[in-house]
Amino acid sequence: MQPERFRSWALWKDEFTGNLAIFCSDERFVNATLEFLRRHLGIDRCDLMVVAGGPAFIPKNETALMERLDLLLKAHEVKQVILIAHDDCGYYKHLHKGLPSQTLKEKQREDLLAAMTKVQAKGIQAKAFFAFVDSGEVVFEEVKP
Ligand SMILES: [Zn+2]
Repeated sequence: MQPERFRSWALWKDEFTGNLAIFCSDERFVNATLEFLRRHLGIDRCDLMVVAGGPAFIPKNETALMERLDLLLKAHEVKQVILIAHDDCGYYKHLHKGLPSQTLKEKQREDLLAAMTKVQAKGIQAKAFFAFVDSGEVVFEEVKP
């Protein structure tokens, strides 16, 4: 008996665009984030690193994830990295228990900027954004030094 199969409608393209997006795995933001990449940044396809806390692992220099990141940057000749953090992030709430949300946002902003600096130091373009909910819609705001 043949195992069950699924055939995707997405066309196979054997190429890399040089874009990588790093964001949190929080499902509440995932669809909006993919839409933001496509509709606002014009990035139809990109590599993804989707982990709890998103780009937080970069300033923390978490070895295992940094190794994966460096591998991707090299192997897929990444030229631009999009870093996205989001409001009400469980990772930050867990890491900094009891801190007010405004303090967490400031911490996330610092981490985004630190991550951006670290990526840029590798000779790669980086942009950072913070996602939050406004009137039931997800809004992305660029974070600059
Ligand atoms: Zn999160």
